[in-house]
Amino acid sequence: MKCKPIVLKLGGSVITYKEKPLTPNLTAIERLTSEISRAHISPLVLIHGGGSFGHPIAKQYSIDKGYRDPSQIIGFSKTRQAMMTLNKFVVDSLILHNIPAVTVQPSACTITKQGRIDVMEEKPLRKLLEMGFVPVLHGDAVLDSDMGFAIMSGDQLVSSLATKLEAERIIIGIDVDGLYTSDPKTDANARLIQHIDQQELTKMQHEIGGIRVPDVTGGMLGKVLELMLAIEKEIPVIIVNAVKPSNVYKALKGEKVVGTVIQRGEEVV
Ligand code: ADP
Repeated sequence: MKCKPIVLKLGGSVITYKEKPLTPNLTAIERLTSEISRAHISPLVLIHGGGSFGHPIAKQYSIDKGYRDPSQIIGFSKTRQAMMTLNKFVVDSLILHNIPAVTVQPSACTITKQGRIDVMEEKPLRKLLEMGFVPVLHGDAVLDSDMGFAIMSGDQLVSSLATKLEAERIIIGIDVDGLYTSDPKTDANARLIQHIDQQELTKMQHEIGGIRVPDVTGGMLGKVLELMLAIEKEIPVIIVNAVKPSNVYKALKGEKVVGTVIQRGEEVV
């Protein structure tokens, strides 16, 4: 690969109406894919969350708890299929904007062990990047060597792929302005953190909010814990509000944008 890729994650809270099951936010998807198209970034890996597609079904069948009972089997299929439906909205929109997007279905190339990526066949993904495609992945229900199956969050994929591909940076689009001192949706005194290093982040972990709406991947705390693995490898993370127009575009172009920069040491991105 000629240069290091950027890994962009679009949160489920941005591309779906998280409190309305199986409802995509088509306006947001269309605007974001047009921003990605305008930014013209290559190589680029796009990962999206599950929002109101993956989470409610996975929760209903306890897919995140692993295989316990034959009645869950159909739930695994339904969770996977819901993710494919959401992925199709995203990829259709990318292609409409002339972005050569190709889905790399995580459950077809990954096996987890206790919910953590154990085996992942990356060759097709690397080849796609080399040829100038934009691989699109998503949080998914996957097979697990110990638990039968598990949920692999888009955030785990972000960290893992960014590390393996030695990404230049990670951009995380969510529905608030960045990382706050506490959940800004429930705490009026929450303050936006513009810069934070790994050490400070570890110290404030217990203040970051967990799950609000049914979410099998642990809310903001789950996200930050996953990202920490890439930050340790010196890959900077920028968290921006992807609901607000132009933020994702600016972050992709490396322009100044309201949000949170997380990096390992003191140096400023
Ligand atoms: P997504 O599904 O888009 O990946 P999540 O819904 O899992 O994202 O996480 C984003 C949500 O986390 C925000 O909408 C916010 O309400 C919540 N949250 C909890 N704690 C914090 C925090 N300290 N800073 C920012 N957001 C937080």
